[in-house]
Amino acid sequence: MGNNNKLINKRSDCRICGNRLIKKIIDLGIMPLAGNFIEKKNLRKKEFKIPLDLYYCSKCKLVQVKDTVKPKVLFTKYNYSSSTIPVLNEHFLNYSKEIIKNYKKRKNFKILEFGCNDGILLSKLFKEKNFFCLGVDPSINIGKLAKKKSIKILNDYFNQQSANKILKKYDKFDYITASNVFAHIDDIHSVIEASKILLKDDGYLVVEVHYLLNLLNLNQYDFFYHEHVNYYSIYSLKYLFEMHNFEIKKIKQTNMHGGSLRVYLQKKKNTIKNKNLHLTKLIENEKKLNLTFFKRFNKNIYLQKKEVIKILKNIKKQNKKIIGFGASGRGTTFLNFCKIDKKFINVILDSSPLRAGKFMPGVKIPIKNISYLKKNSSNIDYVLIIAWNYKDSIIKQVKKINNNIKFIIPFPNPKLL
Ligand SMILES: [Zn+2]
Repeated sequence: MGNNNKLINKRSDCRICGNRLIKKIIDLGIMPLAGNFIEKKNLRKKEFKIPLDLYYCSKCKLVQVKDTVKPKVLFTKYNYSSSTIPVLNEHFLNYSKEIIKNYKKRKNFKILEFGCNDGILLSKLFKEKNFFCLGVDPSINIGKLAKKKSIKILNDYFNQQSANKILKKYDKFDYITASNVFAHIDDIHSVIEASKILLKDDGYLVVEVHYLLNLLNLNQYDFFYHEHVNYYSIYSLKYLFEMHNFEIKKIKQTNMHGGSLRVYLQKKKNTIKNKNLHLTKLIENEKKLNLTFFKRFNKNIYLQKKEVIKILKNIKKQNKKIIGFGASGRGTTFLNFCKIDKKFINVILDSSPLRAGKFMPGVKIPIKNISYLKKNSSNIDYVLIIAWNYKDSIIKQVKKINNNIKFIIPFPNPKLL
């Protein structure tokens, strides 16, 4: 590894509870960073690769990647822009409607979103005249995109230090929210403390996280990558937020990214324990999480790999052409773990202008925009749906162009369509 070590923060304990006896449950091998799409001029350069191992803490029930790549390497040039994904647009439109419905009558309602990406949520909210919106995001190119939409953005990490600066300038907020941020953060305690500084006593902290149980039930090992260091069970969220005197008020399950949770939290007002029956029931469902369960999961992912390769080999034997669809971070894990390279697929289509023209990390398959499909549709036989969580919209898009193309859906279990 040599100088790679300088780019990694090593740790030996659980990120939430500090338990030193966390157990390795999944080993996906040496992987490139999921978001490190390669530019043409760098194709011959050595890629940054490190082992992707997952650990489980049986005390607080968090699944985690232990060592983290320093945020500077990961986020200064983040290639993920939410607004280019139709399904995400719909998700955030619905979320914004919920917020508007609940708060539009409030005078001087103030909302802060950290990890606001390109402003996909806030751009839908700031038109509401009663609302004051502030976004916080460390990524420079994403911050620029958000600024184009004239959203108030602080280009910084969200922590106690920046929270105190925000407090001085804007005072406290009614609503603080973060979507798909908690998966990324090594020092998870600091963002919760930062939220505490900025949240009014009757305010809400609302976080959206991918749900560990859905991820495991649907065999979604492709969601595991270095950029995602935490995978939350509801038990682990309760454990984490109780450490900071926050109380879970409500949990809503959503379809985002193949199964997510929207968790509504408030500062604890008194020490009396409120029995939340809904929460108790949800945690009851998580009883099956244990080392035996993970062993079975591990076995399943190797079965899935074998099955996908079998399907691809069969198609190739018939001299048919396969392309991929969706150059997502998930794709990096999936393709590299299964070793699907240019032998099988020549091109991956993606609608994000930030990725088209680049190459998939590790397997180095070129990424092209959708117009490639229009130009070449007559000699494409199969589309491998890499971004399988958007499969319905992808199938619709492809069928509009060529109704004869068939589909390979790799998750949860590989099948042809
Ligand atoms: Zn723990």
